[in-house]
Amino acid sequence: MTDPISPPELIWAESVEHWSGSADVLVVGYGIAGACAALEAQRSGADVLVIERASGGGGASALSAGIFYFGGGTEAQRAAGYEDTSDAMFDFLMASTGAPDARLVRRYCDNSVAQFEWLEAQGVPFNRGYYKGKAVIAPTDDCLASTGNEKVWPYHGIATPAPRGHKVAKEGDGGGALAMNALIVACEQEGVRVASDSRVNALIGDAAGRIVGVRARQSDGQKYFRARRGVILAAGAFGMNREMLDHYAPTLPDSCVPLGIPNNDGDAIRLGLSAGAALRSMGGIIATASYYPPEQLIKGILVNNRGERFVAEDSYHGRTGQAIREQPGTVAYLIVDSETFAYPEVSRAQHRFVDGWETVPEMEQGLELPPGSLQRTLADYNEGAGHGEDPLYHKHADWLQPLDKPPYAAFELSYSNSYYYYITLGGMATDADARVLGVDGQPISGLFAAGACVSSIAQDGKGYASGLMLGPASYFGRVAGQNAAQANGEG
Ligand SMILES: Cc1cc2nc3c(=O)[nH]c(=O)nc-3n(C[C@H](O)[C@H](O)[C@H](O)COP(=O)(O)OP(=O)(O)OC[C@H]3O[C@@H](n4cnc5c(N)ncnc54)[C@H](O)[C@@H]3O)c2cc1C
Repeated sequence: MTDPISPPELIWAESVEHWSGSADVLVVGYGIAGACAALEAQRSGADVLVIERASGGGGASALSAGIFYFGGGTEAQRAAGYEDTSDAMFDFLMASTGAPDARLVRRYCDNSVAQFEWLEAQGVPFNRGYYKGKAVIAPTDDCLASTGNEKVWPYHGIATPAPRGHKVAKEGDGGGALAMNALIVACEQEGVRVASDSRVNALIGDAAGRIVGVRARQSDGQKYFRARRGVILAAGAFGMNREMLDHYAPTLPDSCVPLGIPNNDGDAIRLGLSAGAALRSMGGIIATASYYPPEQLIKGILVNNRGERFVAEDSYHGRTGQAIREQPGTVAYLIVDSETFAYPEVSRAQHRFVDGWETVPEMEQGLELPPGSLQRTLADYNEGAGHGEDPLYHKHADWLQPLDKPPYAAFELSYSNSYYYYITLGGMATDADARVLGVDGQPISGLFAAGACVSSIAQDGKGYASGLMLGPASYFGRVAGQNAAQANGEG
């Protein structure tokens, strides 16, 4: 599986001489999508075998911060005083994410409260705390936080904003491991079988065009596993596959660093291709190097190498990251004055302090911006901010304050001089029933998928909100499990 364009072979079932094992439902990959799929399929009465390439379950899910995007009035939201509705959540997601399948988003929103409760019932710990600050990952163990663009123009006018990031109860980062521990224990208690150290490298189809099994490489050779009802692909993202990235996301700067595990190299997507799967939004990437916290930096402005603003500075950091990626040379500076000055706290982002200057013309010259450009930009911005307005990008009044107290300072946010890390958002096209769709838009018989190997709700960094991977991966993993368990050889 070295060529990113050509998929692996699709093996014909008739050619298989010996089946090493079988199950009603085969699940490929034991991250959060696979674990949720396996649990639900087994509980639906199916005999399940999870086939995992690593020596144990967890995947990138176990590395994650453990933030799930849920809404519609979860207990955590109600405890914090928010009367969120699934309609508001739907309206926001449809307006902001570019999701192509409204039915899929509707289903996610309508089942969001129940999905939060389901995770808790599996032992995934969440408390009822609310972190009100603006952070990449809340430093506390509080559950609820705003993790998207809900309060950013124009979305706050389209749907009533509510915080929808639900973080596993762990201080700061690392909640994903707690979530995966709980789900793996639940799978063990349910009797889910797992074959680890087994890399699935081909799908098996029958004469009717149905996917009926997989081939996996184990230490003693190639093995063939038959699926009586369905195969679920849940083998994760492709961010670690440089050839696939160069092909599908050629504008991603080389300096960006992928987040994930080595096995996030696109196997599931290429397996899906072998069965004729359609792919969606393969160039969709969220790349980020947040300049906040501290929050006061949001009162600064971001300018490109023309000395012009280009984004509302109160945007979610992934939206800002994509906006910077779209600037000439991916160059950007954060401009602050003496009242708003602070050092960015996300040390990993490595935003360089450029210098301090007594006047705006000196700063303009120091940053090698076109003469007069920054002076104009700041004068316009300060005039609006003085009235609590930002006619250009509609930054919320909470963050508007004229930048007119020297000395001034700049931090560099350019891709080439910062540490941007990313995850991929594109993958197979699936429907609201987690069925993999072919290029003709029709479901591929016997094949289901969920998690980071599918294109789900967020299509790119501008529309992403923290939690929009784990949330849909966990929910549509379950949907895949239920539907694969009920598949009867006809669909
Ligand atoms: C550091 C970090 C922090 C993150 N934080 C968040 C967050 O807070 N909220 C959020 O929503 N998202 C977050 N994400 C993204 C999120 O973690 C992933 O999108 C999500 O976990 C994907 O789940 P998955 O089950 O699809 O894939 P994974 O969890 O990656 O699981 C896939 C599994 O498939 C296995 N596999 C791969 N190839 C094969 C093969 N050929 N055969 C068999 N098995 C195979 C892998 O070994 C792996 O175990 C974060 C990601 C990272 C890396």
